[in-house]
Amino acid sequence: MRLFDPHIHMTSRTTDDYEAMYAAGVRAVVEPSFWLGQPRTSPASFLDYFNALLGWEPFRAAQHGIAHHCTLALNPKEANDPRCVPVLDELPRYLVKDQVVAVGEIGYDSMTPAEDTALAAQLELAAAHELPALVHTPHRDKLAGLRRTLDVVRESALPVDHVLIDHLNETTVKEAKDSGCWLGFSVYPDTKMDEERMVAILRAYGPERVLVNSAADWGRSDPLKTRKVADLMLAEGFDEDDVDRVLWRNPVAFYGLSGRLTLDVTTTDATHEGNSILRGVPRDPGAPKDPGAPEDSDTPAGRPEASAVPGA
Ligand SMILES: [Zn+2]
Repeated sequence: MRLFDPHIHMTSRTTDDYEAMYAAGVRAVVEPSFWLGQPRTSPASFLDYFNALLGWEPFRAAQHGIAHHCTLALNPKEANDPRCVPVLDELPRYLVKDQVVAVGEIGYDSMTPAEDTALAAQLELAAAHELPALVHTPHRDKLAGLRRTLDVVRESALPVDHVLIDHLNETTVKEAKDSGCWLGFSVYPDTKMDEERMVAILRAYGPERVLVNSAADWGRSDPLKTRKVADLMLAEGFDEDDVDRVLWRNPVAFYGLSGRLTLDVTTTDATHEGNSILRGVPRDPGAPKDPGAPEDSDTPAGRPEASAVPGA
């Protein structure tokens, strides 16, 4: 069984998780940029994070045989802090990078005017860069949030078949499906969607355009939820082709819209003084940044050779 987790925050997970995911069949992940729990106060901390998602985390995933791509954006929650909003001006030079397979997570958190502006601006960025978009729906007022999201999507230049609406449930699935967008479901350990409810939705609405993810992060979450949904699908009468469609071919088709999905992993067994994590020399924080320097100067320390990192 091959599994693709199309929404997981590996930055907040351990190597034990990577090992368990690989053993369960996970061979590819997409990591959306998100709120880190500790609010950011400037665009600079977004850029360091984006660089980690582009360089360090794919390298870490490859050590465990897992292909890693990311989606980049100003997340809905931090779109409300005017100190963070200028990161929108920095995004274009990141959206051209090979590992970026969508703009995301964008969408609504509290449905404020600042969130309206950031959502609309980033849908336009996705259209301009010919990338799909991962759009999160709010955990409160779900149906109202979905309707407002779909209104903004329809007003944008991005076609609905380039939009994945995530965190859907029984109250929002029908309208989301009717919109023509892709349908994302985040399966959590004890709140929101669980695997039984997920399988019931698949039975009612079918597997077309459906993606299932763990959305695992620093909160209570389970990076093996993709496998648990697959197992329950089989136990409940779906066949292996249905499982492969929902948990592999659908995410490959959606993120493949970027033209940048590379699923073969060059596993590296490189070590440094017996440590499985390669350690480089940290950049001198006092060194002035050359504005004319090539984009590679943004890649993190800890990658001694670009050739060790897939997609580099
Ligand atoms: Zn997320």
